[in-house]
Amino acid sequence: MAAKRESKRARATRMRREYDQLCEFIPVTKCQLDYRTPFELIVATVLSAQTTDRRVNGVTPELFARYPDADALARANIADVESIIRVLGFYRMKSKHIIELAQALVTRFGGTVPQTMEELTSLPGVGRKTANVVLGNAFHSPGFPVDTHVIRVTGRLGWRDADETAPEAIERDVTAVFPPREWTDLSHRLIIFGRTVCTARAPQCAWCPLNDSCPSAGDFLDLPSARTGTRRPAKRRTTKTTAKPTRAAASRTRKTAADDAGAR
Ligand code: SF4
Repeated sequence: MAAKRESKRARATRMRREYDQLCEFIPVTKCQLDYRTPFELIVATVLSAQTTDRRVNGVTPELFARYPDADALARANIADVESIIRVLGFYRMKSKHIIELAQALVTRFGGTVPQTMEELTSLPGVGRKTANVVLGNAFHSPGFPVDTHVIRVTGRLGWRDADETAPEAIERDVTAVFPPREWTDLSHRLIIFGRTVCTARAPQCAWCPLNDSCPSAGDFLDLPSARTGTRRPAKRRTTKTTAKPTRAAASRTRKTAADDAGAR
């Protein structure tokens, strides 16, 4: 017999409860990109497309020592910028983008980073995700960046409808359930959780703190699915997800999540 469809209200209640559990599991959050100013954060976020924050953090000290503000970067020699960020993918395109971004900051905003979604997304190379990162972290305004981890984790947890995959729709529906002051930390936690527990290829359902209520746990463990009420084979069975959960494994997972939340 098919399981009863969860009402909107029940889903919102479950989301808040699961987020409380995530807060216990990942007590401390921080932006994974290193930055000292809004200018450094917006540039670092543009550079982070298609690569890891760790790699970006490896090049930005030299980049910002050479070009400490929008005025300096706007006048940069592109070959020099390319040589500094060469280890990142798409370094030629990214060099062009960050110089154009700096030029727009200088000509339109006096060299400062604007503080509204509309102004931020009017800058070259700045989409809604980058704007939300800057708003939430540099200006402590409500911002909920939706990246690939947030899309995957919210889908598996059933925090959104399965066919609702557009980042803007996810942002709208998830933020409707939480107070604005929580949005940035909520996004950080979902990202850390997606990197360390609910990973793309091998989600650690066996020792996931949300496996009691997650409607997808049964998709990865050979358990009855909470969504359908039926038993079905695991989609991706791996040694890790089918192993008996142990205290040591759970503790390792928790430590990885804590490390991920810490200095990177
Ligand atoms: S139970 Fe599995 S699928 Fe659900 S959130 Fe946890 S790791 Fe992800």
